Amino acid sequence: MECLECGEKIIGRSDKKFCNDACRNAYNNKQNKDSTNLMRNVNNKLRKNYRILMELNTDGKAKIAKSRMDGLGFDFDYFTNLKVYKNGSEYRFIYDYGYKFLEEDFVLIVRNQA
Ligand SMILES: [Zn+2]
Repeated sequence: MECLECGEKIIGRSDKKFCNDACRNAYNNKQNKDSTNLMRNVNNKLRKNYRILMELNTDGKAKIAKSRMDGLGFDFDYFTNLKVYKNGSEYRFIYDYGYKFLEEDFVLIVRNQA
């Protein structure tokens, strides 16, 4: 068995994954850092999307060209929840702001009053 952190052969119990506490800590810190970075990146994208929806939808409802949202850097892959209504319309929400795709590359932005 080799240490997951440094790759050294581990002497002793066969179920040990690290040669010592320092290696275990270093390994765990790296794992945590990766997930923290991932979460930070996703949060930044959500925050940016949210800000764009908020800026475009000042009246409670707005019909906006998708290309304009693309131009502002809106990332359509990131949203917080999906809502499908009985009439079949599908809204993607980022917190309280939602949007659905309309025909001819337009997007309808709404705000859900909580
Ligand atoms: Zn080690």
